[in-house]
Amino acid sequence: MARLDIDRLAKRYGDFYAVRDVSLQVADGEFLVLLGPSGCGKTTTLRIVAGFIEPTAGSVTIGDRDVTMLPPWKRNSGMVFQSYALFPHLTVAQNVAFGLEMRKLGKAEIGKRVAEALALVRLAGFDDRLPRQLSGGQQQRVALARALAIRPDVLLLDEPLSNLDAKLRQEVRVEIRELQQKLGLTTVMVTHDQEEALTMADRLVVMSEGSVRQIGSQRDLYERPADRFVADFVGRSTFFEGVVEAPGRFRTDGGLSLACDDGTPGRGALSVRPERVGIADTPWTGLDNSLPGTVEFVSYLGALIDIHVRLSPRDRLIVHVANREGGFTPEVGQPVHVGWPATAGRVFNE
Ligand code: ATP
Repeated sequence: MARLDIDRLAKRYGDFYAVRDVSLQVADGEFLVLLGPSGCGKTTTLRIVAGFIEPTAGSVTIGDRDVTMLPPWKRNSGMVFQSYALFPHLTVAQNVAFGLEMRKLGKAEIGKRVAEALALVRLAGFDDRLPRQLSGGQQQRVALARALAIRPDVLLLDEPLSNLDAKLRQEVRVEIRELQQKLGLTTVMVTHDQEEALTMADRLVVMSEGSVRQIGSQRDLYERPADRFVADFVGRSTFFEGVVEAPGRFRTDGGLSLACDDGTPGRGALSVRPERVGIADTPWTGLDNSLPGTVEFVSYLGALIDIHVRLSPRDRLIVHVANREGGFTPEVGQPVHVGWPATAGRVFNE
């Protein structure tokens, strides 16, 4: 286990920067998730840390060692790939032993570590199976055991759950997180699945176009997004386009006058989280914003109901209500009133 430091990392392909000026510190035992849309540079960053890609600039330090120029096998980092990358002709035990043989450990030590790693991922007794005789979830756990067997200082996970079905993903997510906490492993995971990121991480890094947009806890990113990109990427929001007329007053391009929390006069967007909005069949009193509208779309999502309300020809608001016994669930075409406090709206100036 060790601390990981990434300092002003960049990777250029021709004129294009896949990663630019990325600096991060991951504390000993911390689980950090790199989150962002496809092509934002998260896999490139992880592969630079693993040693598979040489950076154009910047450095990677694991513990006290600058590993920037070292090959992958000299970094003592364990990597789990999206495709698992198991050797199909080797048994489970041989797959897990592979990295240990590369490191020229003794036979007895290898046997001990393989057994230990397979027990950790709850695959004891599967030693002699071939990968094709395992389910997707089991193959994923073999890949994890292989990474753990070398007792890595840093565990690197590259979208390790994306080949699993939705239900299994949820289970394996919890398994990996519990194991990581038990072993106190410094871990970096890449994903574009925000639910996965929110469930597993101690801290998250949101990236876009090769750069870091914000680093913080789940709560930081959700409640205090640094910019519109983060607000849009983490969780859902309605964005009203318009103008801040004065601090605390926003006029949408559709002509609505809305109370908001501060804001600098000028063009911008007002974002409102769907769960902060109330919906009823009578106007709201005691809320800074109360507006009439018409329901245009209702979707039943299980624990909550997703409702879209037309407020003006150019403004449509998303509302989420908890699926409760006796709760208010309007139908498409029904006139309603929506309301929210000024503090629930966040202004992003252009
Ligand atoms: P995804 O979620 O789709 O895997 P990502 O955030 O992991 O995306 P990267 O794989 O890091 O994205 O790629 C970042 C950018 O760098 C992309 O625009 C990609 O096309 C580009 N890129 C990656 N590898 C190369 C390469 N060898 N040559 C040129 N461009 C590359």
